[in-house]
Amino acid sequence: MPEKKVLLSLRGLHKTFDTQEAVAGIDLEVYEGEFITLLGPSGCGKTTTLRIIAGLEMPSSGSVFLDGKDITRLAPEKREVNTVFQNYALFPHMNVYKNIAYGLTLRGVDKNIIKQKVDEMLDLTQLKGYEKRMPSQLSGGQRQRVAIARSLILSPKLLLLDEPLGALDLQLRRQMQQELKQMQRTLGITFIYITHDQEEAITMSDRIALMRAGRFVQLDTPRGLYEQPRTAFAASFIGETNLLTATAQAAKDDEVLLDIAGFTLPCTCTDWVTPGEKLLLSLRAERLHLSKTPVPVPCCRVTGELVHTQYAGGERLSVVSLPDGQTLRVRTSTETDQDLAPGATVYCWWNQESGVLVRDDREEA
Ligand code: ADP
Ligand code: MG
Repeated sequence: MPEKKVLLSLRGLHKTFDTQEAVAGIDLEVYEGEFITLLGPSGCGKTTTLRIIAGLEMPSSGSVFLDGKDITRLAPEKREVNTVFQNYALFPHMNVYKNIAYGLTLRGVDKNIIKQKVDEMLDLTQLKGYEKRMPSQLSGGQRQRVAIARSLILSPKLLLLDEPLGALDLQLRRQMQQELKQMQRTLGITFIYITHDQEEAITMSDRIALMRAGRFVQLDTPRGLYEQPRTAFAASFIGETNLLTATAQAAKDDEVLLDIAGFTLPCTCTDWVTPGEKLLLSLRAERLHLSKTPVPVPCCRVTGELVHTQYAGGERLSVVSLPDGQTLRVRTSTETDQDLAPGATVYCWWNQESGVLVRDDREEA
């Protein structure tokens, strides 16, 4: 692995609007060539963070470093940073060619070089043949490609994208996700990407910063965030999870025995746990298995009553009620569908590594 070079550093960023703390202490190092995503619910401070990086907003405190230089007070146009917004403002009176060429024209670049660069961008964004079209004659997806081409042509060190696919329908979104990721790889430009769509974040990013109320809840790889969420919020924001209340019975080295609804269940644990302590166990719905008979005898197994079950195409959603009233949502493949009916006693089990102890931050905001 080549040495990773830090391109952007955010240090102790805060931003307060009137009394509202939009950014409440953010530290981040972004590596050159990285695709990093800020993910989180609406209002958590994603856009504000991006606008601070772009220079469109001044932080209340903290600093921004690009390539080791403090750019906190540098004007937006002097930063080697470009931004693509959701509501891509193309120039309506300019055709595709002129829109893409705009930044270079402004810089007084030679016409032949501009032509060559625009051609490269048309290729990259699959807009060949659309040079003469006006923005009003393009589909939403094509307009967004023009907006992206217009930013990429300036070869910024860093491209900021604020929900760039937010206005597109689902199918086009999925297609553009792949294209954008491909362009990013081809050009090796560092992307900071904003979305509130967890699937988009998971499939495109090298790392994800999950945000809540102006802070990072967890900064991790997509796999790390999905497989090892550290808090209840992180576990529930991504994917579908069950959060079970458990009591620690006994702890040894890296394992704790949990009491959940009267069942004794082992769980891997690296933190210090005291017997009697209340804990929260996260179990992904699709990592749970269901059966009418007690065939497998894994160590992590509970028995409950099937209260609901529904065929949903590729998968079946079932809800199991445990003796203490807690419920488990279970998603199983319909390829091996069983004849399940509400009211039946069922066995539900999982691999020990699928159970993750998380911090209970549900009441925090
Ligand atoms: P996100 O992009 O995650 O939806 P924003 O960064 O846009 O969130 O907003 C974070 C919080 O800051 C929100 O509560 C929002 O209302 C507030 N906010 C953002 N911009 C301003 C502004 N210019 N003036 C006052 N409040 C703002
Ligand atoms: Mg926003």
